[in-house]
Amino acid sequence: LAPPPMLDDAGNVKVVVRCRAFVRREKEKGTQCLIRMDPATNKTTLLAPVEDTESSTRRAYEDKEFVFDKSFWSHDEADPYYAHQEDVYRSFGEEFLDHNFNGYHTCIFAYGQTGSGKSYTMMGSPDNPGLIPRTCEELFERIRDEPTPNTSYHVQVSYFEVYNEHVRDLLAARTSPSMYLKIRESPKDGVYVQGLTETEVKSYADVERLMRIGDSSRTTASTKMNDTSSRSHAVFTIRLKQITHSLLSDETIERTARMRLVDLAGSERAKSTEATGQRLKEGGQINKSLTTLGRVIAALADPKRQNSKGRRPKEVVPFRDSVLTWLLKDSLGGNSKTAMVACIAPSDYDETLSTLRYADQAK
Ligand code: ADP
Repeated sequence: LAPPPMLDDAGNVKVVVRCRAFVRREKEKGTQCLIRMDPATNKTTLLAPVEDTESSTRRAYEDKEFVFDKSFWSHDEADPYYAHQEDVYRSFGEEFLDHNFNGYHTCIFAYGQTGSGKSYTMMGSPDNPGLIPRTCEELFERIRDEPTPNTSYHVQVSYFEVYNEHVRDLLAARTSPSMYLKIRESPKDGVYVQGLTETEVKSYADVERLMRIGDSSRTTASTKMNDTSSRSHAVFTIRLKQITHSLLSDETIERTARMRLVDLAGSERAKSTEATGQRLKEGGQINKSLTTLGRVIAALADPKRQNSKGRRPKEVVPFRDSVLTWLLKDSLGGNSKTAMVACIAPSDYDETLSTLRYADQAK
């Protein structure tokens, strides 16, 4: 079956930034908020912290300004432009779902240091569900309420993590932190994880159950291996297959789209300063995948990389340089839409600057 046609605005990359609220610890310490966002211009300003005159290592900080496709102020609920989970979803989640129903892949990443709000943005909590549950819920609503005539829908979910350039199935019935799966590539299936559990789901309740299993599998592994969850990339995938039988032409048309929703490893883990042995290796691997991802997204977003037909020469995009980007190759570029949510904590100047710079080069 022929793939869906190339789109004029293919390869759309959106880069947005979200600033979280103070957590209790920060409130108790009376922490200063270093972030300002102007929702009218989408400008994000990182303010220089008030100088610590007693510190022996005094250094010069400066205010830094960045502009992204969207800035989400989720810091103070009292502000009229406070961005709720719903607002984040509405700003591109909906549009991405339209794209999936049209047969194209999408990919959403949450980037940022540990504790900056990545899992809150992607998964959220039962009271404040994030992008993944909202996408799944609306997917089943659309199938129920707006089905295309003569079409059957098949939805499959998989959930894996990439740790130290290895893939671990989060939905496998019996798994251990060191049970890794092989990555294969075939002309027919592209890049895939061999033996990965792909579960057919019929309702949002089915997906919820799988999210819980996957998250607890991630947590169990992380307690055994000393907080792996911030050191691994978690990739939640929804595969939507639509089979339409056209009565007019007596043809069957099959369309498959994949949505990848990725909670990346904590960006601070990419630094290997003071690390030795396993931590040094781990930092190197995280660094490799985050750097490669940044380069891949930058390459996809850069119009200069397109040839005269508006298509990118594939070889300049360094997909194969890390397991994460290699696995996501089909969901990045081409007709896919990609969004990166750069999550920032309100009070950490250095880490926030590094996140904003990373997001800026991905624009
Ligand atoms: P990460 O996944 O980046 O390590 P989390 O999503 O776990 O970070 O967020 C760290 C803490 O901040 C959690 O307690 C979470 O509930 C809280 N938090 C994150 N984002 C928000 C937000 N937008 N509004 C309110 N609380 C948030």
